[in-house]
Amino acid sequence: MSKYLSRKYESLVPYTPGEQPKERKFIKLNTNESPFPPSAKAVEYASRAAESLQLYSDPECTPLHAKFAEACGVTPDMVLATNGSDEILNFAFMAFCDKDTPAVFADITYGFYSVFAEINSLPARVIPLKDDFTVNIEDYFDAKGTIFIANPNAPTGIALTRNEIELVLKNNPNNVVVIDEAYVDFGGESCIPLIEKYDNLLVTQTFSKSRSMAGARLGFGIGSKALIADLRTIKYSTNPYNINSMTMAAGVGQLEDEETTRKNCKIIAENRDFLTSELRSLGFDVTDSKTNFVFAKSDKIGGADLYFALRERGILVRHFTAEKIADYNRITVGTRDQVDALLGAIKDILS
Ligand code: PMP
Repeated sequence: MSKYLSRKYESLVPYTPGEQPKERKFIKLNTNESPFPPSAKAVEYASRAAESLQLYSDPECTPLHAKFAEACGVTPDMVLATNGSDEILNFAFMAFCDKDTPAVFADITYGFYSVFAEINSLPARVIPLKDDFTVNIEDYFDAKGTIFIANPNAPTGIALTRNEIELVLKNNPNNVVVIDEAYVDFGGESCIPLIEKYDNLLVTQTFSKSRSMAGARLGFGIGSKALIADLRTIKYSTNPYNINSMTMAAGVGQLEDEETTRKNCKIIAENRDFLTSELRSLGFDVTDSKTNFVFAKSDKIGGADLYFALRERGILVRHFTAEKIADYNRITVGTRDQVDALLGAIKDILS
């Protein structure tokens, strides 16, 4: 730390992203990326856009907003594209929380929420999950703050139903409720259909998982016109050109190929269910995941030990040190070959 760093950031603990190793080729099951490449259309449109990089990108993201809004069944003024969904989440913390309006989120959830609260000097109210990692939705009724719920949750993979989220919305007429749907396409129920009815609902989605574009950094907020207008104010006050031209074009191409996205999600869901049942038969406790990862604890080996043993065998998974989940690993669901390699390595380690 330099002597120049503002005092307000002295104790800031940044988010730790999953490793992106360079030194060795791993089977990479640690950051919930898609094992499939983006659509050929995304690649084609992005390379065409690269020919005009001397120009700033379109701050209004016109074709991309139109296309994504159409896919969601809303109007373009109800969506906002951002640099990954991390950016829209940060915008939501900035726009809808303050010293009297804390951010409200679970103890075991996406690790960035506490960092966004911290960097924006916002109070946070942390609500523990139940022992089985499920959410008691009544804990979120009349929350007196801005609620952030990852649905399905990460790293547990467990999903709430749309009806349960609707109860949270009904019981928070004066609070914004942010539903982070980063993993919704693998088996969760999206809350986008509730946006018509609830002007306090903001849904966030990403192109990093089901749409195979993690490296392009593209996320979205979807909500009432008024909420989106607030978030646009934050965008235009920080980084108007937050979406680069290549990502914008790639996003449009990807949305023209929803068939491939659906097909890929179906394969991942099948591989996840296969991996879950195989791990359970090896004695693992595995949550009911609706995502592209499983969250699993062995009855024979500790979480950290399994992480290191897999790493030695060329397989990267994600281990978190928080006490409540230190026995678990979060394992991205890859291709069937990757799943088979993982299971082979685990059997080897356990024997
Ligand atoms: N929400 C959750 C729950 C996540 O796991 C992630 C991925 N790290 C994100 C949001 C952000 O993803 P991205 O910025 O790539 O859209």
